[in-house]
Amino acid sequence: EVKDQAKTKEARDKLNTAGVGKEEDFSEWYTNVITRSEMIDYYDISGCYILRPWSYSIWEQIQSFFDGEIKKLGVQNAYFPLLVSEKALNTEEDHIEGFAPEVAWVTKSGKSNLSEPIAIRPTSETIMYPAYKNWIRSHRDLPLKLNQWVNVVRWEFKRPVPFLRSREFLWQEGHTAFATKEEADKEVLQILRLYKRVYEELLAVPVVEGLKSEKEKFAGGLYTSTIEGFIPTNGRAIQAATSHCLGQNFSKMFGIEFEDENNAKALAWQNSWGLTTRTIGVMIMVHGDDKGLVLPPRIAPIQVVVVPLYFKDFDSAILDKKADEVVQRLKEAGIRAHLDNRTNYNPRQKYIHWELKGVPIRVEVGPKDLEKDVVMFCRRDNGVKESVANADLITTAKSTLDNIQVSMLERATKQRNESISIVTQWSDFIPSLDKRHICLVPWCDVPDCEEAIKKRSNEESLKQKEEAEKGFCLTGAAKSLCIPLKVEELRDVPAITNETRCFACERSAKKWTLYGRI
Ligand code: AMP
Repeated sequence: EVKDQAKTKEARDKLNTAGVGKEEDFSEWYTNVITRSEMIDYYDISGCYILRPWSYSIWEQIQSFFDGEIKKLGVQNAYFPLLVSEKALNTEEDHIEGFAPEVAWVTKSGKSNLSEPIAIRPTSETIMYPAYKNWIRSHRDLPLKLNQWVNVVRWEFKRPVPFLRSREFLWQEGHTAFATKEEADKEVLQILRLYKRVYEELLAVPVVEGLKSEKEKFAGGLYTSTIEGFIPTNGRAIQAATSHCLGQNFSKMFGIEFEDENNAKALAWQNSWGLTTRTIGVMIMVHGDDKGLVLPPRIAPIQVVVVPLYFKDFDSAILDKKADEVVQRLKEAGIRAHLDNRTNYNPRQKYIHWELKGVPIRVEVGPKDLEKDVVMFCRRDNGVKESVANADLITTAKSTLDNIQVSMLERATKQRNESISIVTQWSDFIPSLDKRHICLVPWCDVPDCEEAIKKRSNEESLKQKEEAEKGFCLTGAAKSLCIPLKVEELRDVPAITNETRCFACERSAKKWTLYGRI
């Protein structure tokens, strides 16, 4: 009978945690974690998801940080319409070619067909720039720096994954115009730096700053800067955010022309940049464990949960009072604290619940702690427990939250760095990818070579598909992720010289480049 009870207890626990090991079945683990922790709920349109308060409030934290930072750069928020006419959408040829397959169209109102189909924004260059043409006449109208926090729709044909690749997602899109290329170039990297801060300082996720190859740059843009993240569990890289220099391509097509200081006509230099709810998915995948989410303190909706430990012969009102006092003191100190005084759950069930939701610190208040005037701290990231004197509650809570934040980034950075292989010849490439690594390679930076790498890596990986299906879906083509801006921060690699060959063809190499499966 005891054995049976254990079984049901185990089964019950399984339902309340990730239910399956992160390494055991990553995709089931992810689905379980995001639904059971109440971040996401599914919806009856594939690729669209409900963001519940537990995830939406993380988005609000990201918004609040980033919005504050871009305002310091003089960016203002505005709102442009959701819908775009076919004519406007088609204005920039390369741009529409890049986006066309993913554009969703409205074709009817009620039962009648619209005279012209109208597109739902996949991004807003073609919506904003006709207005920019009217607003920008003189050099005195520049720079123009606008941003909007909105949703966009891209009918992705790849399998949707909540947060990472959804058909509707939330983002900010910044659209700026300058008189000179120098100003535009400078801003591209300023924004990229802010994106890196969102990932590293808020989400404790390391990213690599770099430039996209010609093939991977934004459709219609001049060049794309990017930050690239990495998911160790499946060995896949992920484009974490992008900051594009559009050059004068769009200003030419949309007629965004101004009179410079010498009364000569000039085309504006433009940038666009976007960060999406993908951020949340990357953070979950990097930090989560078999018990569920592990949230970095800076974005955790609840940073400290306080659980009174009721005992049979002890007056629970006394415990409740003490626990409430702890919560109030934490709140007054600016810490997001919550009291779990539900009486229909036992402490173990509460622990499992808050571990699943990833709350950084649990504080237990029991009768013995009252006697000694202490409380018990338990860290979500490493499980370490510590008895803390009541007098030290606030200082210890603050320092522990800071410490968790720092050590989560350190741990993730170490793991990311250990997953980078330096590959100088093709024969080492696929075996490294199959080890769930990304590869730092000397590369010629020629689009045809990238095309060939994609094709060849796909063919070679298909040969091993059967093997891969048993394991961690290691198939797929490799793509260039970025040409790192500071390769020395990743690895101590020799400088590229005239003698250095491309790892994939016989041309001479130009740049150390990161390649990986996405
Ligand atoms: P883009 O305008 O194409 O450069 O997209 C900006 C950023 O959006 C990319 O760098 C990705 O991080 C992110 N992103 C792209 N597609 C999706 C998607 N389907 N769901 C969530 N985020 C996305």
